[in-house]
Amino acid sequence: MKILAIANQKGGVGKTTTSVNLSAALAERGKKVLLVDTDPQGNATSGVGIDKNNVKFSVYDMLVEDVSINRVVLKTDQENLSIIPANIALAGAEIELVSAMSREVRLKYAFKELEEAFDYIIIDCPPSLGLLTINSFTAATGIIIPVQCEYYALEGLSQLLNTIKLVQRHLNQALEIEGVLLTMLDARTNLGNDVMAEVRSHFGDKVYDTIIPRNVRLSEAPSHGQPINVYDARSTGAKTYAALAEEVITNG
Ligand code: ADP
Ligand code: MG
Repeated sequence: MKILAIANQKGGVGKTTTSVNLSAALAERGKKVLLVDTDPQGNATSGVGIDKNNVKFSVYDMLVEDVSINRVVLKTDQENLSIIPANIALAGAEIELVSAMSREVRLKYAFKELEEAFDYIIIDCPPSLGLLTINSFTAATGIIIPVQCEYYALEGLSQLLNTIKLVQRHLNQALEIEGVLLTMLDARTNLGNDVMAEVRSHFGDKVYDTIIPRNVRLSEAPSHGQPINVYDARSTGAKTYAALAEEVITNG
């Protein structure tokens, strides 16, 4: 089982879009996938068609109230794709966890209790490097870092890399950077080439060959509660997330 955290403390870089659509593309390829929403905004939850304000239990109950993970997992409309939902209840968790026992390893311990087998767990991280993200890194086997194709794309990444190093040292030695994903490439500008060269010079072959273009269908799909492979399977957004899923599978 691979546990992949989709993380970057910058907001709006494509974490949630990648979490939802990579999960859906892996599920479409017959992999059993559990998507875990750890952002109080709950956009990954609504993105797969779950009404985030009407769930019995959410990731909050699991992390803070010790509700069993097996009671929190929900099936989605898509075959092979389940989700642990999040909503605004999670907003207080960063603070509530500070004084909790084993506060950094709660997600990891929850995964150990899973009764159902999954090939992939994909964790959508919030835009911060707080305890929720630390829990994800502690539980994960790898991290996928979405980087938006824009000037200053690498700004702030040193903080992220530093947090990864600290977690590797103290909490999860086996943690790796699984891959760096370039997102929201605008075909009309040359900027993409500059950013690509810069990111490749820092991360080398960790950078996925697949680059996600800016695609309006990807931004429309969430309001329909559908991953892109359901909303518009023929869109470039769907094709590129399918290609990313193939790369993730090939990389083992
Ligand atoms: P994050 O989770 O990192 O904050 P999101 O995945 O929520 O980022 O993306 C931010 C916004 O950009 C959302 O409105 C989303 O629909 C849109 N978006 C993300 N990726 C793309 C893309 N490749 N093309 C067009 N819009 C995108
Ligand atoms: Mg998000």
